[in-house]
Amino acid sequence: MCQIPAGMTRLIQNMKSKLAVMKFGGTSVGDAGCIARAAQICAVAARERQVVAVVSAMSGVTNRLIEAASLSEAGDSTKSSELLAAIRTQHETALGALISDEPARRKLLQRIEGILGEAARLCEGTALLRELTPRTLDLISSVGERLSAPMLAAAISTLGVAGESVDATELIVTDGFYGAAEPLMDLTSQRCEARLRPLLQKGVVPVVTGFIGASQEGALTTLGRGGSDYSATVLSAALMADEAIIWTDVDGVLTADPHLVPEARTIPEISYREAAELAYFGAKVLHPKTLRAVMPYEIPVWIRNSFAPEKPGTKIGAKGASGNGGAKALTAIRDVSLIAVGGPGIVGLTDVVGRTFSTTAKVRANVLLISQSSSQNDICFIVASADAKRTVDALREQFAQDLAHHKVEHISLDPHIAIVAVVGENMRGAVGMAGRTFSALGRESVNIIAIAQGSSETNISFVVEEKDMKRAVVTLHREFGLGVAEVSQVGSVSRR
Ligand code: ASP
Ligand code: MG
Repeated sequence: MCQIPAGMTRLIQNMKSKLAVMKFGGTSVGDAGCIARAAQICAVAARERQVVAVVSAMSGVTNRLIEAASLSEAGDSTKSSELLAAIRTQHETALGALISDEPARRKLLQRIEGILGEAARLCEGTALLRELTPRTLDLISSVGERLSAPMLAAAISTLGVAGESVDATELIVTDGFYGAAEPLMDLTSQRCEARLRPLLQKGVVPVVTGFIGASQEGALTTLGRGGSDYSATVLSAALMADEAIIWTDVDGVLTADPHLVPEARTIPEISYREAAELAYFGAKVLHPKTLRAVMPYEIPVWIRNSFAPEKPGTKIGAKGASGNGGAKALTAIRDVSLIAVGGPGIVGLTDVVGRTFSTTAKVRANVLLISQSSSQNDICFIVASADAKRTVDALREQFAQDLAHHKVEHISLDPHIAIVAVVGENMRGAVGMAGRTFSALGRESVNIIAIAQGSSETNISFVVEEKDMKRAVVTLHREFGLGVAEVSQVGSVSRR
């Protein structure tokens, strides 16, 4: 008989003790077929190592829940119930196709009914009071994850690997800031060790609801829209996982939006800082807070496509791939507006900058880019278009006196603009990056409205008219050779 050598046994045990946290986004659990595929990925991975799954709501569900909540607040109970009924059908249909075992399916159906019943009662209460508190909104919007987690757990169990759904209210302890709660890591680690570690040691795959946590008092909170990514990295840090894998519907982090640049390509490796910069500038792959949780421990985060699991995806880690000649990726944000406060009269008015940005803070407008020319004639900044009107109204009120006395000539708003950013950690200290960027754009007659480069030098961002955005991105993608695989790009850089 052939004996397995001791070294090999150790190796297998070692592999088995490796822990991966795998998050599945809304589209990756969008219907029965997708859930089955996600379950397959978990079951295969669980043969070699310990796996914690984190799941989003089925796609579209959170939006519908929030709509149901606001319809209830407006008193429209009928429309609100219709939305809840549509959510029920969506889940029942998926369940019917997913679980053939009759008793198991009936048990799950009951659970779904129970959770949706709670949602209905919360909506009724809201309609009665005509008041929707942030706390109630969190309770209602958490329902999607509470429905999807038991379904994925059951689907994993049909593949011969035990799956068990775990509510994140038992695991992620947060502050009491409803709608954008922050995890308290020490308490979260303790809870995860106590609740998840024993399951993992038994070979069970815990399936945790993304997006949700609970305050120390036990009230349910959410981490903010798109927050399941953050849930995954919070759990990774809490359990000191070996890696986090964000399963989504794109191949990884791309060099540019493929809708704008068809030759955009997946970046094999990228640093935390670069990825955070891209997330901040609107590349919709990651929730902006996601990397914060794992950066101190250097736990790598993979972005992979659950619809093409054979593709390697993008690895986000402490170091991006080396040898890249500066620019790594481009990102463009639409739906932003430029606000300018200015006129010759503001020269020497020392409090204009302070008052401008205390006003944006007061109305909670997220400022994406700021630029002030040294002649001080004009301060311009960019906010999301959704925040623009409220910001301009508040500024007009703040500067009413100065406008009347022509110290401030204008407060203007331009919604037809876009921000383009060139991102790359190795741009730091690389002389000529800005020159190359703007010469290339000049050759294509792209007019630049404003420019900003942070002192971190990991990005150069600028504002263009919306109609020029695509041309700007296509031009720079070509200029920096981003469509070419990294190896040859290094070659072309060293030949320069
Ligand atoms: N379901 C939540 C949302 O749509 C969280 C997530 O998907 O990450 O915002
Ligand atoms: Mg999502």
